[in-house]
Amino acid sequence: MSTIGKCLCGAIEVTSDEKPDQIIACYCESCQKACGGGASFNIIKTDEGARLSKGETKIYNDTADSGNGLERHFCGMCGSPIFSVTTSYPGLKIWKAGLFSDIDGLEVITNIWCDSAPSWSTIDNSIPSHGKSRQ
Ligand SMILES: [Zn+2]
Ligand SMILES: [Zn+2]
Repeated sequence: MSTIGKCLCGAIEVTSDEKPDQIIACYCESCQKACGGGASFNIIKTDEGARLSKGETKIYNDTADSGNGLERHFCGMCGSPIFSVTTSYPGLKIWKAGLFSDIDGLEVITNIWCDSAPSWSTIDNSIPSHGKSRQ
């Protein structure tokens, strides 16, 4: 059974043959700007594990807080962030968790870039939490 994800306006759809699973919360400053909050919530999948099934993304070429190149793909109609590709994770796409319909019940398994989290973030330190990226 495949899972469908959609942006806010529905112009972009993603299809995955795998259920969305673990979420990684990223508190880097780049994600705060791109996602309009204290963190971004991400589901990492292989290039085969999830694919764009409708629409075309626009791309913003960003530099991650790690210094690595980062392509931020977003919907040109509604502005929703869709996925990112970074040179540090070849063969993987970092999808925004909020796109997917069946994310209730999932768990955040790791927090990264906690050093730049705003003071009003509620970070669950009972799971692996890194000041910067995962080593
Ligand atoms: Zn859209
Ligand atoms: Zn980030």
